[in-house]
Amino acid sequence: MNLKKIPKDIAFLTKACMPVRKRIKNNVIAKMKCILVENDGVGLAAPQVGLDSRLILCKESPESENIHVMLNPVIEEKEGLEIDAEGCLSIPDLAVDVPRQTRIKVTYSDENLNEKNIVAEGYFARVLQHEIDHLDGILIIDRGLDNGFFYKGKQLSKNEVDKKFLK
Ligand SMILES: [Zn+2]
Repeated sequence: MNLKKIPKDIAFLTKACMPVRKRIKNNVIAKMKCILVENDGVGLAAPQVGLDSRLILCKESPESENIHVMLNPVIEEKEGLEIDAEGCLSIPDLAVDVPRQTRIKVTYSDENLNEKNIVAEGYFARVLQHEIDHLDGILIIDRGLDNGFFYKGKQLSKNEVDKKFLK
């Protein structure tokens, strides 16, 4: 299992994933946690490691040690709107200004298939929306605002970004 990146692995990263119907093997989740931590990420979705499953890992903040494991997450309620810069482990060196809801309620199943829900605000809500987007094959490139694309700090047009990453 390794981290998938665009443009090379675009096929994994732009398709919707299948629902999870049984427990995910512990070693799969452990390996994903390793990849998340090694890459200094705050979230990782299954398609980013080549798995066709609606499974995400999320931290509430960069400093948080706890990693939420969520199967089949669904946003049930959402409110507020805020624009902020996001990066993605699968799109190195690109920062994109993305509008996101500021408060969301998400239902999901935990690792043991127990149904749960969580209300997330601010940074954590943003991470969840980013990771849940991955499960539908949606990337920050698709969500970015005009004039909101920065590659290694240099502003690029949406066209330039598409040419560079979505070829
Ligand atoms: Zn991402």
